[in-house]
Amino acid sequence: MDNEATTPLPRPPWIRVRIGQNGLFEATKARVHERGLHTVCESAFCPNMGKCWAHGRATIMILGDRCTRRCRFCNVDKKPVLPPDPEEPAKVTAAVKETGLREVVITSVTRDDLPDGGAGIWADTVSSIRRAVPSALIEVLVPDFKGDRAAIDTVLDAGPDVFGHNLETVPRLYPEVRPQANYQRSLAVLRQASERGFVVKTSLMLGLGENLDEIKAVLADARQSGCSIFYAGQYLQPSPKHLPVARYVTPDEFDTVKQSALAAGFGFVASSPLVRSSYHEQGQTEFVLAQRKDKA
Ligand code: SF4
Repeated sequence: MDNEATTPLPRPPWIRVRIGQNGLFEATKARVHERGLHTVCESAFCPNMGKCWAHGRATIMILGDRCTRRCRFCNVDKKPVLPPDPEEPAKVTAAVKETGLREVVITSVTRDDLPDGGAGIWADTVSSIRRAVPSALIEVLVPDFKGDRAAIDTVLDAGPDVFGHNLETVPRLYPEVRPQANYQRSLAVLRQASERGFVVKTSLMLGLGENLDEIKAVLADARQSGCSIFYAGQYLQPSPKHLPVARYVTPDEFDTVKQSALAAGFGFVASSPLVRSSYHEQGQTEFVLAQRKDKA
């Protein structure tokens, strides 16, 4: 697949941005901006933003809004990165408290420029939220920290409820889609968290040229690495300079992927065109709380 300027495929009827603007949407927006926080909702033009923010949910992106990597599907800014804000954990916690969020998803850009990849700020953010809102369910969607086990342990030591790391696509497409990532390294990140007893989650974007056999192989690898939660959604091209959509996967095909994931042994699966890894699909919280209870 090359991304010579091709005429984008027409969007099928099932790709409709969820509008759900209400008072809470505006309140969430105000809080996020007041605190100078970045969200992946905005930087990724997430189609679910209207709905999520209208429910007081936002995925907060820490460590700045500029990334050291060049994934070809991602709309995050690629300008030179700025020093991390040491006040960020406190700012995020204040926003979480103010918005009364019960479920918090934290993600970040990849900071290959920092000795610990930003793991220290990650841990401070999770611990700070945990202290301020003990009942909050905290999900982290982390980068691969270049496979640095100590950095990953630093995040795990802070005690998130869900540990997420996206495989994003099938290994054959890595050089084209996420050239600085490594499929085996990402599996090792997932395995490290599951070996420490965490609820582990991963996700794939579909529509980049993968086929069902390749998806099934990734599902098997992710299961073997201890993942119990799997998400799959349609890749949407953020701009003409990003990878083109190879095809729009039909809702029926997403359902086939869902059945394949359940057959592979995943405990919770969300698979449909507008699903995003940080989107809180109905039922995930109950699944996580049940896992937590089983481990208690
Ligand atoms: S590492 Fe993450 S934030 Fe950075 S370019 Fe890739 S997908 Fe985007």
